[in-house]
Amino acid sequence: LLIMGPPGAGKGTQAKILAEKYNLIHLSTGDILRREIKKKTAIGLEAQSYMNRGNLVPDNVLLSIMDSTLISLKDSGIILDGFPRTIIQAEKLSETLNEMSLVIDTVVDLVVDADEVINRLAGRSTCQDCGGMFHVQSCPPKVEGVCDNCGGNLAQRQDDNSETILKRLDVYQESTAPLKQFYKGQGNLKTVTARGSVEEIFSRVLEMVK
Ligand code: AMP
Repeated sequence: LLIMGPPGAGKGTQAKILAEKYNLIHLSTGDILRREIKKKTAIGLEAQSYMNRGNLVPDNVLLSIMDSTLISLKDSGIILDGFPRTIIQAEKLSETLNEMSLVIDTVVDLVVDADEVINRLAGRSTCQDCGGMFHVQSCPPKVEGVCDNCGGNLAQRQDDNSETILKRLDVYQESTAPLKQFYKGQGNLKTVTARGSVEEIFSRVLEMVK
């Protein structure tokens, strides 16, 4: 299953719930890259400068990570979140899946307005340990700055400031939105309105994937 949409559409939130409910593996390339940054690996150091400016990390970096990851997980049900983000990545993903005799069952496209995205991301805080997400208005943590799930520290992501959010939205329109046509052409794109509460959106997602 592939979940796409602009930054702040709720891809990570919905993917996490689906993965838990159906015992699937949630693969978020953003989370993978942030872990590499935390570990200060060569990939992390290269990725960081792109991510902090709201740009995409080069395709070759993503493809090298995802190819080996997908091959190692070939017997599992997977939710891809944040990958592919370019046509080149999508083509390479199709090739890799083909070689493994696997297919993408459904592509869920979360659709949401830019204003809503800016509000969600600017108020978002993320757990540094488990990646859990909170929002100052819609989903505040029980204790300020502390993750409800694991007790880890909450912080604003470096790329969740207003200037970088606008850049990420532009990059999305230019490089990632064309994937809708790509997957529409393959006949498995399902559009979901990503407005309302997490639960409301989840029930719409379920309708599409059940
Ligand atoms: P996300 O956590 O999905 O919002 O991703 C955060 C950032 O990681 C993006 O703004 C990109 O800089 C980088 N990133 C994540 N996935 C990809 C991808 N598939 N291709 C290129 N860059 C990516």
